[in-house]
Amino acid sequence: MKRIGVLTSGGDAPGMNAAVRAVVRKAIYHNIEVFGVYRGYAGLIEGDIKKLEIGSVGDIIHRGGTMLYSARCEEFKTREGQLKGIEQLNKHEIEALVVIGGDGSYQGAKKLTEHGFPCIGVPGTIDNDIPGTDFTIGFDTALNTVIDAIDKIRDTATSHERTYVIEVMGRHAGDIALWAGLAGGAETILIPEAKDDMKEVLARLKRGTERGKKHSIIIVAEGVGSGVEFGKKIEEETKFETRVSVLGHIQRGGSPTAFDRVLASRLGARAVELLIDGHGGRCVGIQQNILVDHDIIEALSQTHTIDKKMYNLSKELSI
Ligand code: ADP
Repeated sequence: MKRIGVLTSGGDAPGMNAAVRAVVRKAIYHNIEVFGVYRGYAGLIEGDIKKLEIGSVGDIIHRGGTMLYSARCEEFKTREGQLKGIEQLNKHEIEALVVIGGDGSYQGAKKLTEHGFPCIGVPGTIDNDIPGTDFTIGFDTALNTVIDAIDKIRDTATSHERTYVIEVMGRHAGDIALWAGLAGGAETILIPEAKDDMKEVLARLKRGTERGKKHSIIIVAEGVGSGVEFGKKIEEETKFETRVSVLGHIQRGGSPTAFDRVLASRLGARAVELLIDGHGGRCVGIQQNILVDHDIIEALSQTHTIDKKMYNLSKELSI
């Protein structure tokens, strides 16, 4: 292995930079040249590819976003698009590619692997929804951003004795909502994996008021539905003064937490180790605090599931 490429793709996540840095430095340490592919698969098709040096990834470990930029690229979903990408990689004599991104990006890496071009997937997404890993890069940072918001909202909720609905990211996975709800002491957590009955939510709110609670915090993952609509319904049914906060893209930004930086460094380096050992078509992850790798095709055939025990605990603690 003489030359590898690295790209970031799909939704950006804090810690992607730390992963890029780890890939670049680990590779250079082992005398492998590294090329950065800019703007994900879009840049790959267009040949937006530049050599990265040790210094190219200096001063980025603490920055959110991605220095390689990210993009969504419909053309790459086609066979022609994928072959164009491989042509560019061959032109630069790049022998393998590290793809840092979410499940969509993994699909692209899987396709390249199926065409005979070795790729390693590194899980970079705030959603924590990639099979084969307990944590994805960016999840911890997003979670801490949400907690910070919940704590602040709680102050005003207490002062004004209001009910607050906080909509967080998570179209298909409720991890951010569940972890943030548990850590933020929310009364109700609504996740796509376990749609709660509205009646139960209302009953829970009323029970709380009856035992003297002055305010309530409800966390809704965006995949469940609109927080605004949900807030309206609650106010109509309970007559409690209700406010809604949609946290939106602030959840994607910010300086990565120490956890995400360490995770990104470990996973990025592991990806390079796999390539050095001659493995392609794998994805890396961490399970029970041990670095693991799986066949990328097999991993993608699995679905990420929510921790049911944790979900039940959140209900028990918010009676
Ligand atoms: P994420 O990686 O965060 O899940 P997306 O789902 O938007 O983000 O995927 C990022 C990019 O990966 C897409 O814009 C596309 O270029 C590529 N991609 C997604 N699905 C496929 C697929 N089935 N085949 C090939 N490439 C894909």
